[in-house]
Formats: sequence, C-alpha cells, structure tokens
Amino acid sequence: MVVGAGLAGWRLVEALRRDGYRGAVTVIGDERHQPYDRPPLSKQVLAGVVALDDTTLVHPGSPHDVTWRLGVAATGLDVERREVQLAGGERVAATHIAIATGTRARRLATTAGERVHALRTIDDVTSLNADLARVVPGATVAIIGGGFIGAEVATSLTKRGYRAIVLEVAARPLLTVLGAEVSSWLEGLAMAAGVELRSSQQIKDVVVEGDALRLRIDGAEDVVASVVIAGVGAIPNVDWLVDSGLRLDNGVVVDGALQAAPGIAAIGDVARFAWSGPVGSSVARMEHWQVANDHAATLARAWLTGEHDAGVLVPYFWSDQYGKKIQMLGHPDPTDDVTRVHGDLETGRWLALYHRGGVVTGIVALSSPRALMLAKALLERPTSVVEAIERAPWAS
Ligand SMILES: Cc1cc2nc3c(=O)[nH]c(=O)nc-3n(C[C@H](O)[C@H](O)[C@H](O)COP(=O)(O)OP(=O)(O)OC[C@H]3O[C@@H](n4cnc5c(N)ncnc54)[C@H](O)[C@@H]3O)c2cc1C
Repeated sequence: MVVGAGLAGWRLVEALRRDGYRGAVTVIGDERHQPYDRPPLSKQVLAGVVALDDTTLVHPGSPHDVTWRLGVAATGLDVERREVQLAGGERVAATHIAIATGTRARRLATTAGERVHALRTIDDVTSLNADLARVVPGATVAIIGGGFIGAEVATSLTKRGYRAIVLEVAARPLLTVLGAEVSSWLEGLAMAAGVELRSSQQIKDVVVEGDALRLRIDGAEDVVASVVIAGVGAIPNVDWLVDSGLRLDNGVVVDGALQAAPGIAAIGDVARFAWSGPVGSSVARMEHWQVANDHAATLARAWLTGEHDAGVLVPYFWSDQYGKKIQMLGHPDPTDDVTRVHGDLETGRWLALYHRGGVVTGIVALSSPRALMLAKALLERPTSVVEAIERAPWAS
C-alpha cells in the first residue's frame, strides 16, 4: 500500500509493476487528482504554456491494476498490524506500507488569511489563476519569499505581463541554501529579468484593502498588490503519524534502506533518511524531484528482492528562474568553501565546486547543464578538490 499519491508513491508503483510484482496495490491520496508532476506548476503552467492536465504522471502505458482511494486522507497508522486508518474510520491493511505523503506549503499567519496564495498543488494553481483573472493585465503581484518557488513564480508571472515584486526576508535570496558566495553571484538575475527584488523584508501582516492587499513590512514602506503569493517553505506531512510510534523529526526518520519499521518505509520529500555523502554520513530530508524517483527505485528493489543496498545517491535538483537554470548536485552545507572552476559571472554561465576539508561536497551550475553532468562522477566517490580541478571533467 502506498500512502500519498504523489511522485514518489507513483514511481514506486511503476517500479513494482515493471519489476514483476503482480499482487494488489492500493494508493491512498488526499488530493482528488491522480499523481501529477509539481515542477511545471510554478514554471510552464503558471507561465501559461503548459496545461494543468499535461502535468499528469498517469499515462496510457502506466500500471492500471491499481486500487485508487483518492480524495481521502490517511489519519493513522497501526505499525504492528500494518494498518492505515482513513478519514471516516475505515482501516486498510497491507503487508508493505510506503509513506509518501510529501510536504505541504507553509502558510503565513496573516489577517488576509486565504487571500495569500501558496503554490504546491493543482488546486493552488487553479485558485491563483482565478484570482489573477480578476485583475487587470500589468497589475502588481507580491511574492513573499525569494527562494526557488518564489523566484519561479515571479519569472512566470512577469512573462504573463504582471509586475512582480519579490520580498525576501534574508539579506539575499537563497543565502541559507546556497551560501554567501554563490547567492551573491545570483544577485543581479531578478532585475535583469524585469523582477523587482527587495531583500531584508520582514512581513508583519497582509491586510485586505478593498480589492487589493496591503503588505505591512517591518521598518520598510508598505507594498500594495492585487495578488499575493507566499513561497516560504514546506512542512512534512506527518501529522497522521503522531500516534504511530514511528520516529518523527522533521519528517519520518528512516535508515539508509528507507525503512521506518518492518514492512514500513518512507520515501520522497517526507523521508528523513540516512545519507552517505563524500565527507561522511548524515541524516537529511531533501525536497528534490530526483531524490523522490531514486527512493522509489531503491524501495521497489528492496521489497522485491530483499536487497537493502541503496547504492550511491547523488542528490540533484534544478530550478528555472529569471531566465536561467540553476542546478545542484550533492548536498553541501551552505558554509562549505566554494571555488568557481568554469565560466564566469559576465556570461551568466558557470560551474562551481563546494568543498569541505579539501573534499568536493557539491557542484552548482548556472545555465551549464552539460558541464554539470560531466562533473557528476566527482561525487560518486570522495574526490579532493585538487584532483577535481586537475581532471576538469566539465571541460571535456
Ligand atoms: C511548485 C513546485 C515546483 C517544484 N520544482 C522543483 C524543481 O524545479 N526541481 C526539483 O528538484 N524539485 C522541485 N519541486 C519538488 C518536487 O516536486 C518534490 O520533491 C516532489 O513532488 C516530491 O514528491 P513526493 O511524492 O515525495 O511528495 P508530493 O509530491 O508532495 O506528494 C505527496 C502526496 O501525498 C498527499 N498526502 C499528504 N498527506 C496525506 C495523507 N495524510 N493521506 C493521503 N495523502 C496525503 C499529498 O497531498 C500529495 O498529493 C517542486 C515542488 C513544487 C511544489
């Protein structure tokens, strides 16, 4: 049984069927929709070039012998009996249970309540588009949060002709994710793409003012906008597991083989898993599309073969923002040292290595996808930064 009809859960079903599992599969999802892809929502869908229906992950060749329980939330888990309780009280048992409930958008507590949009689901996009449809072209849209989602939303809405203002609480967007140096290299991108970016903006409240919304900001002038969207992070969906006895700590804590308890695993955004990186092991939760795919493949193999070797997981994510593509391999700490090894800031194409104690911990690239992929092997086993620069695989 898979709880959570998102990317990780659906990829697990696909892998199980592909690898020969013929038993019963039940997928429980609290959204009314069959699994769909979220990355296009803030990019092509919001920009108006891809239809919502085209984000579906269920295609004619997809597994069809699946029992769907959509629009119903799991509310509890009995670990001993391997039984999931559903809203309404029904209980469903299974030999194996995958927890794939992902994350939800963090909501800002403001006076304007639901008038401040989030962007996580198809329903969020539908509601945002309905709000945008009632305002005039060129209207001001305020985006709270200059992280990946905020920047992508601002880019897409600028393409549609809105005036996008991004309000970022930190001194620079992505400072706490990419570190001081790399975030400084990205500083001019928003402006070049026609987006107004204001940093060090602490939102005190958002209040409704007729048809518009007024954002009150600590120590700065108010912003009045027709539509407001918050992209301020995500929270793992573990509330339904609080009485289960599973270890919860910013996600479901699982081992390197993604197991939370016998027969119970967690995958994707909700999983806080033991990860072996180039400079040792750590426990991490990663909200990356590729990690959800990799987890699903690993878990299907473990369930079908009993083989619990997760192999080498090189985390990967990308973001399309301000007309550029940011890509990252590895899971560096934002305080790791950084050396730019390819390209330059002027051309807006470059590649840099993160390193700690002389060992490469991550690779970040701006609009240099080929160079990034050529460098991936540097993270498949510990590689010193000296050796990396000597080999320079990105230049091949
Ligand atoms: C707008 C947007 C853009 C993104 N862009 C990128 C990108 O460019 N690059 C990248 O690497 N990653 C990106 N991501 C992240 C990527 O989409 C996620 O890593 C991926 O969706 C994780 O899949 P998941 O299945 O773990 O979780 P989810 O996709 O969140 O799916 C979990 C599902 O479980 C459901 N659920 C939750 N609780 C319950 C419950 N109690 N009972 C039943 N069902 C439940 C949820 O409603 C949801 O449908 C983006 C995410 C968003 C929202």
